[in-house]
Amino acid sequence: MDLTRYQRQIILPLIGEKGQEKLTKASVLIVGCGGLGCNLATHLVRAGVGKVKIVDKDIVQLPDLQRQILYDEEDARKSLPKAEAAFQKLKKINSDCQIEAFVFEVSSENIETLIGDVELVLDGTDNIQTRLLINEACVKHSLPWIQGAVCESVGMSMNIMPGETACYRCLVDCFPPPEGPIPIINTIPALIASIQATEAFKIITKSPDINKDLIYIDLWRGIFQKIKIKKREDCPVCSKRNFTLLSL
Ligand SMILES: [Zn+2]
Repeated sequence: MDLTRYQRQIILPLIGEKGQEKLTKASVLIVGCGGLGCNLATHLVRAGVGKVKIVDKDIVQLPDLQRQILYDEEDARKSLPKAEAAFQKLKKINSDCQIEAFVFEVSSENIETLIGDVELVLDGTDNIQTRLLINEACVKHSLPWIQGAVCESVGMSMNIMPGETACYRCLVDCFPPPEGPIPIINTIPALIASIQATEAFKIITKSPDINKDLIYIDLWRGIFQKIKIKKREDCPVCSKRNFTLLSL
């Protein structure tokens, strides 16, 4: 494998040769390939993560092109599944990277198989229900995952490291699914995905700098905050290990 393409991060002491080797051997699942997922996949594949799995059930449509950077007008005209269109683009970006694409909805029936051969899960979804499902599966199997969410000009991200940090269920309860399209400025998914991808590099390379707080940003108003989230002693998932969504 020609490592020249990773020269700029190999000369970066934060990653270096050893970090690059870990990235090359890493295996990551990205759930959702919309505004967040397109940016996540781009960063991971360009950085040389060895195996990237993408799952998304939707097709590319014209309003997606405002922020979903892997797709173009032809993909929308052909109504290509996002996972398939992303697969084609990502292969052209880095042929050394093993990319797997799945066109289906993540559910309690398939999530444990999907995460079975990865070391990290990245959240590119647009709904709390799927995040709660990812949370249960990852807590159950002690797998780190990086939550990300965006709406209007606001975004947040949090690393969920089972056994070390609070889990997603410590943070949120059930919410109704969003009705209709979520209003959004196209710069916020790019920014939140950059934070998630950077945290992914740190988790994969076992950096001591992994962030343990929730990051909250309102890009339009210029608000940047780090918020401590406490593990809830009565959390049904990380404290009591009741995985009710997985058993549905
Ligand atoms: Zn919890």
